[in-house]
Amino acid sequence: MSSKQKRLLLSGCALTGSLLLGWAFLFGPLRMDARAPAAASAEQRTAKIGDREKVEKSDEQWRAELTSEQYHILRQSGTEPRGTGRFVNHHADGVYTCAGCGSALFDSRDKFESGTGWPSYIRPAAESVIGTRDDTSLFEVRTEVYCRRCDGHLGHVFEDGPEPTGLRYCINSAALDFAPRD
Ligand SMILES: [Zn+2]
Repeated sequence: MSSKQKRLLLSGCALTGSLLLGWAFLFGPLRMDARAPAAASAEQRTAKIGDREKVEKSDEQWRAELTSEQYHILRQSGTEPRGTGRFVNHHADGVYTCAGCGSALFDSRDKFESGTGWPSYIRPAAESVIGTRDDTSLFEVRTEVYCRRCDGHLGHVFEDGPEPTGLRYCINSAALDFAPRD
């Protein structure tokens, strides 16, 4: 290799190097911007209780925003182990909201001790906030309860609850957050 060829090769390397640096400089901040929607939707999650606007997000977004436990329950219809949830023995006065979208789902006044190991309620905070559908994933047909606003899985409803409704909404703690009453 002649010295001229070497010089050409070296300057070629230097040029490539600075191009790469320039690329990283230009696109590095853009890549960080790509994370911005996640931060924005965290605000969205704490949106005013009672806001009925539907929340729709990609699986990727949900995965990025929720804890792995919340994701498993809300987006994969999982069930937390009996007695392990943070709201099983929770007795504060307030509203239980959806961990996915902030929708007000259950009132602490409707919570009762079911002894099942999952937070239990006799009714939702409002009929319009939750939806139900048949769940045939086990041997028996159960009625799944989901959040109308974000379509997140919450738990199931059974007809062995106390009066006056006779219903038992058996809900995963991980699907909920809690807002104390003002
Ligand atoms: Zn929700």
